Amino acid sequence: MLLNKFGNADNTKNMLTECCIGDKLQLSSVYKTLVQPANEVAWAKTIWDGFLYPKHSFLLWLACHARLLTKDRLCRMGILSTNQIQCVLCNGHQLETRDHISFECQFSAKIWNMLMDWLRYRWRSCVWRLILNWYSHNLRGQGPMQKLKRMCLSIAVYMIWKERNQRIFHAKERQPIQIFRDIKFVVFSKVQNDDIHVHMKEILESL
Ligand SMILES: [Zn+2]
Repeated sequence: MLLNKFGNADNTKNMLTECCIGDKLQLSSVYKTLVQPANEVAWAKTIWDGFLYPKHSFLLWLACHARLLTKDRLCRMGILSTNQIQCVLCNGHQLETRDHISFECQFSAKIWNMLMDWLRYRWRSCVWRLILNWYSHNLRGQGPMQKLKRMCLSIAVYMIWKERNQRIFHAKERQPIQIFRDIKFVVFSKVQNDDIHVHMKEILESL
């Protein structure tokens, strides 16, 4: 395997020599050399860097990869027919796609707009592509407000997806204001119960 990767015995020997400290081979260095570093996508910090719950991050990761099992995808997979793919959040006025439920749907947009009001966003959009671009380039820092906004995006996507599932599988409906309050509750719970920098708590109390 090493010969295939590095071309010949000399190159392999040179690589192994560079991975030694003194006369000891550092396996971690060999591993790093063998595993090509993957290019980090622009929105990686949006998903993984912050005070995020793993289940929220995972769903956001699926959304970023357009892998949520939305009805348009289920239709393309042959699981639903074309007359079954209307959005349940806005009572079937639009087709359910990733971009629609996050956050072009009038139901989702109400929640997202309430969140943006609460967090005093300077910039606004309900268009997924623009939101992700904004987060990737303007909200990737380590400041408490940036982390707070990353947390709220992941919770919002999760809560809206959960509401969508509740409507489809349990015939239960809630209003945008209730979901907005739930998102705030999750945020406050996380910030109060975790060892989070005091600035974050001060910011939350000032909102
Ligand atoms: Zn909708």
